[in-house]
Order: sequence, then structure tokens, then C-alpha cells
Amino acid sequence: MQDRFDVVVIGAGAAGLAAAARLSRSRLSVVVLEGQGRIGGRAYTLAARPDLPIDLGCGWIHSADRNPLTALFEREDIPLDRTPPAWGRPEADLSLSPDEARAFQQALNAFEARLAEAAKTGREDRASAHLPRQPRWLPLLEAFSAYYNGAPLSQISVQDYGAFIDTGVNWRAPEGYGAAICALADRSLVVPHCAVLSVDHSGPEIRLETARGRITARAVITTVSSALMAREAIRFDPPLPAKTDAAQGVPLGLANKVFLSPTAPADFPREHHLRGAVDRAETGSYYLRPLGRPVIEAFFGGDHARALEAEGPGAAAAFAQEELARAFGAKAGGRLRLVAETRWGDDPYVLGAYSHALPGCAAARQELAASVDGRLFFAGEATSATAFSTAHGAWESGLRAANEALAALERR
Ligand SMILES: Cc1cc2nc3c(=O)[nH]c(=O)nc-3n(C[C@H](O)[C@H](O)[C@H](O)COP(=O)(O)OP(=O)(O)OC[C@H]3O[C@@H](n4cnc5c(N)ncnc54)[C@H](O)[C@@H]3O)c2cc1C
Repeated sequence: MQDRFDVVVIGAGAAGLAAAARLSRSRLSVVVLEGQGRIGGRAYTLAARPDLPIDLGCGWIHSADRNPLTALFEREDIPLDRTPPAWGRPEADLSLSPDEARAFQQALNAFEARLAEAAKTGREDRASAHLPRQPRWLPLLEAFSAYYNGAPLSQISVQDYGAFIDTGVNWRAPEGYGAAICALADRSLVVPHCAVLSVDHSGPEIRLETARGRITARAVITTVSSALMAREAIRFDPPLPAKTDAAQGVPLGLANKVFLSPTAPADFPREHHLRGAVDRAETGSYYLRPLGRPVIEAFFGGDHARALEAEGPGAAAAFAQEELARAFGAKAGGRLRLVAETRWGDDPYVLGAYSHALPGCAAARQELAASVDGRLFFAGEATSATAFSTAHGAWESGLRAANEALAALERR
């Protein structure tokens, strides 16, 4: 590896790959330093079998009709599936009758309308303060927050929630969203197994200490997760206390997935959705045979995901098997083979799943995104104002930071 670059990008997740793609079209010398042996970060498709790609991280191309990745995938002939998700179709819901599913959707819409109103009028910034009084849908609203935000409503800023843009159009990349994002990358720019330990910006050149030695740069784009920034996993010298504070305001929630393969797929209907329970938040959300494949994707979020992860490897899978056996009978439940189980909270290169702003901390995203001295730039999903917690928000933030770096270097 050469030891002098115009721009060093830290992290080869969606944000870092987007920044590199933008910078590679300039005349600047660029390198992406990635701590792990693979690219993609939380955009991670595992080829469980040659015919079974599974997304351990992002899976849904959210706001697909305005998602900038959609056009890039189309340009690269990456196949897309436009089937609406089972969790949005009352007739595909196995845990509620179609009428109940519609009633829950109405309760959720009404709750979100109250949050939007509260965001506008500046009322109490804690989402849980705006829950309906009637107890009927409270467990499912909390379960929704666990999946959507990765955290309970008591930890969600109303302002931040209201800033998120979601067009409600969700598509899939049948070969994997993670694989599709990685297919856009110029791998020649990435140095794997090269964790950055410190960034010394006290002198005229920025000096980085990495797992593979020292290098220098004129500008640095940091894209690591807000949880790592909050822990000061990369040492900045001089320190950046405002960044650390901002990162603590937008912590990572937790979401984990378990993939189970039925030995008799016909036991389970294709493209259907099941909640393990409708009277408590501590339950799994099960996507049955997505795209007709012989797999069930279980999703756990928030405090429940944390508790299962803390129990140790296999706990989430056992919980999923138990809930599925209750719904489909012991025989079908017994014919499920574990394919994969994620533990994002334990992953030292992320420490969680996706960010949410704590009550009173919606402005932290802007603070986290702000450049320092025209030489240090920051990207990553948590820095996005309107698409945080998503892969496309991360991608857009990488482009934004790259443009900032280009403009700053040009000025110099
Ligand atoms: C279970 C789960 C489900 C999800 N579902 C969806 C979904 O359906 N749709 C959607 O749009 N989004 C989803 N997301 C969110 C989406 O995956 C993320 O928002 C996005 O991938 C984050 O990209 P990023 O570049 O900001 O961060 P990351 O992907 O975390 O990239 C940061 C990179 O930095 C590297 N790194 C860390 N420390 C260092 C260091 N010191 N030196 C060098 N490298 C370092 C990491 O290894 C990583 O590769 C999901 C996430 C999870 C976990």
C-alpha cells in the first residue's frame, strides 16, 4: 500500500463505497481502509447455498421509487423484485384476520399522524408520550418500533421520527441487497484487514495509524457506525468531543435475523407474514418463504433482540422455532434447520443495527455529519437527515461527504 493519499475513506460499507465511487471520478488519489476481510459492512449477503442468498443486514430497498440505488442497479442489470412485502398486505398476514390487520394499520397511521403533529408543534419529543390511551394495539405498536427503530418508543425522538422520508414502496434484490451494493464497488480501492486506530489531525498532514502501518492524507472521510464513534473506537487527536456527544445522541438500536430452512417447505405458505404473538412486544416477525424460497426469515428487534443476544448463540433460533411450532404445529416446527443467526450487537465493527435519535437529540445527526477544519468529513447512515437507518441513506451520505471533501480540496 502506498503511504500518501489525497483522501482516505474509513470503512467499506454503503457510505464508504459511495464516497469512493464519487472520488474515483476525480483526479485525487483515494483509498478505502476496511477493518474486516469483506466489504459491505451492514450490507451483507451470505450465500448460504448457491441458490439461497440471504441478507444478514439490509434486505429491503426502501423508498425504492426514489432510492438512488435503484437506478444504479438497473444500470448494472442487477435484477429487482417489485412484489409488495407480505408485511404490508392484510391478506398475507397469518396472525390477524384481514379486518384486524386493517384496524392495526389504521391505529399505526393514527399514531404516526399524532407524532407528525407533535413534531410540528414541538410538543413532548418522546414518542411513547403520544401512544393511544386504548390498550388494544399497544403491544403491536411497541413491536413495530422494535423492528422499525430497533428500540422502544420511550427512546425515540418524535422530531427525528418525523424527519424520516418513506414512500412506502419496498422492493428486493433477489440476489441480495448487500451483494447488489457490493457489486457497485470498485474493489481495487479497498484495503481489507486494515482497521484505522487513530487519526492525528494536529499537523499540516493528517496521519493515520492503521493495522497495516502509518499513512498520511489531505482529507479523511469517516463512515464507521455511530456506536463506534460514541465509544471513540477511532482515536482522534486532537479529540472531537462534539462528535462523541452527537454520536451518543443517535445510538444504534438492535435488530437480528434468524434464517431457518424447512425440510418440508410446503408446511409453510410462500410470501406470507406471521407475528409470533399479537398481545406482547417480545415476539418475532416471520417472513415465510420470501420469493418462494425454502427459507423463513425471523426478525427480532429492540430490547427483545438484546435479551436474546445476551442469552448467547442459538437463543434467538430456539425462540423462533418455538413460536413457529406453536403456530404451525410441532411437526412442522421440528422440520426447521438453522441456516444463519445474526448477532449485530456483538459485532465489533458495528455494535448494533441502525440508528435512532434519543428524545431531544434530533439535531445530533447534523452535528455528526458536520466537517471539521475542512479536512475531516463524516458519513454513514446515522448522519443522514431523512434516510437514516437505511442503506440508501448511507449511500447518499457517502456521496455528500465526498462532494464536501472534493470542494474543500479544490479550495485549498
Ligand atoms: C438486521 C438489519 C436489517 C436491516 N434492514 C435494512 C433494510 O431492509 N433496508 C435498508 O435500507 N437498511 C437496512 N438496514 C440498515 C443498513 O444495513 C445500514 O443502514 C447501512 O448498511 C449502513 O451503512 P454504513 O456505510 O453507514 O455503515 P456500515 O455498513 O456499518 O459500514 C461501516 C464500515 O466500517 C468498517 N469499520 C468499522 N470500524 C473500522 C475501523 N476502525 N477501521 C476501518 N474500518 C472500520 C466496518 O467493518 C464497516 O464495513 C438493516 C441493518 C441491519 C443490521
